[in-house]
Amino acid sequence: MVAACSSSDDTATQTTVAGTSDDTTSPTEAPDTLPPVDFSTDPFTLGVASGDPSTESVIIWTRLAPDPLNGGGLSDTEYSVRWELARDADFSDVMAEGDAIASPRHGHSVHAEVSPPANETIYYRFRVGDFTSPVGITRLAPDSSSSEPVRIATASCQNYTDGYYTAYDDMVKQSPDLVVFLGDYIYEGGTGEPGTVRENNSEEPKDLVAYRNRYALYKSDPLLQAAHAACPWVVTWDDHEVENNYAGFVPQDAADAEGHAARRAAAYQAWWEHMPVRMAAPIDGQLSIYRRISWGGLVNMLVLDGRQYRDDQACADAVLKVEPACPEASLPERSMLGSEQEQWVANNIASDAVWAVLANQTVMSDIRLGDAILNYDQWDGYSPSRDRVLESTTAAENLIVLTGDIHLAGVGQLTTSSDPSTSRGVEFVTTSITSDANIDASLEALLVSLPNIIDAEVSHRGYTLHTVTATDWTAQYRIVDDARVDGSAVTTWKTFAVTAGSPTVTAV
Ligand code: FE
Ligand code: CA
Repeated sequence: MVAACSSSDDTATQTTVAGTSDDTTSPTEAPDTLPPVDFSTDPFTLGVASGDPSTESVIIWTRLAPDPLNGGGLSDTEYSVRWELARDADFSDVMAEGDAIASPRHGHSVHAEVSPPANETIYYRFRVGDFTSPVGITRLAPDSSSSEPVRIATASCQNYTDGYYTAYDDMVKQSPDLVVFLGDYIYEGGTGEPGTVRENNSEEPKDLVAYRNRYALYKSDPLLQAAHAACPWVVTWDDHEVENNYAGFVPQDAADAEGHAARRAAAYQAWWEHMPVRMAAPIDGQLSIYRRISWGGLVNMLVLDGRQYRDDQACADAVLKVEPACPEASLPERSMLGSEQEQWVANNIASDAVWAVLANQTVMSDIRLGDAILNYDQWDGYSPSRDRVLESTTAAENLIVLTGDIHLAGVGQLTTSSDPSTSRGVEFVTTSITSDANIDASLEALLVSLPNIIDAEVSHRGYTLHTVTATDWTAQYRIVDDARVDGSAVTTWKTFAVTAGSPTVTAV
């Protein structure tokens, strides 16, 4: 389903790693100076990133943008970008290098698939002309024989205007092996909104150049750059990468229907250009991003796309209305994932790994109040689709769902409509990196009183650090004292644990 970057003719030139780990005699010979370029200021303003590690390769990313907030600042020409891998941050021992093309058709982004040795910490960087990028750290995923514990940070919802990326500063200090980003990487808002902590660069983006400039604003943040440089990421999207609460080809507001397909295509293109993802560029406004990430014998993670293929929200997408849902919400043909992706989940969720994981956008735990649906944008608004997905996961023993979207820290248990008292798995909802609370603090007690909500905290921003072993899944919720204040303190709200073999969760 997912094409490797190297199969795309213009994305990357892959070079085989020179020698094995004990062959120090002949790194690939390449000229130490690179051809001159027609720009004179540093193009590596957006940092570096890596992502989608497999046991064989990982994607390393950068984008040439000497004038990042104004379209990038490069001429309409291709540049050859050197990449280098080393065992040390000084690059005194370069183990492999190669050249990738930064094309104007891709916003001069580079996605290079590289194959360093397994089980090593790998340093990477890029060079063009006289310029050298910051250094990133990455690694491959261990193979299925490994039961080495893995630490995974989940993050979502990083509205630039709502605060500072202090959560990422703490995340880097905790040195996770992998970051899983669950959506709302950018927000599409304009300037001058009330309560703004940091100002947007433009009015609401609608075309490719405007979305590129919006990603550039976010990626100019040094704390976000440091988090990308620290370890590989696995990224999926939610709604704000295009527009709030859009569904497939249906915009939030019916009045915007005319330009929506073109806007979505521009937004998908800009997302692809800025993310370290293992897939070819969008074609005709379509980009298949759902994919599997395996980590040793511990994790079989299915990364979901709950936006591109979903049916429109039911019942006019009402929010927090405590009245019976309209009949549309329970139509069995409606889907959150689309039938093809639902079938893909059913076919791929079972594996030899200890933990079956869904990396997902919106809240999956059933928090309906009788016949009332509090949020039609979440899985509650697509309950027949949720039932099908959960029924299809029964072959997978230990189901963990990782979720963002709702700007609160929460722990839930997953149940089906036909058996609402039996837990099928555990959901860990990470709070937003910065985005303001969606739910008033006065409603926290009501939320926690719901049968499927184990615990919740609505007032703080942060992220979740998961430690995964062959016997336990432990989720530590890190929260920022006040994300609106630069450099605010980060502490642990609570830590929860699941023991393999039992789909229940306890506070530790
Ligand atoms: Fe959000
Ligand atoms: Ca969202």
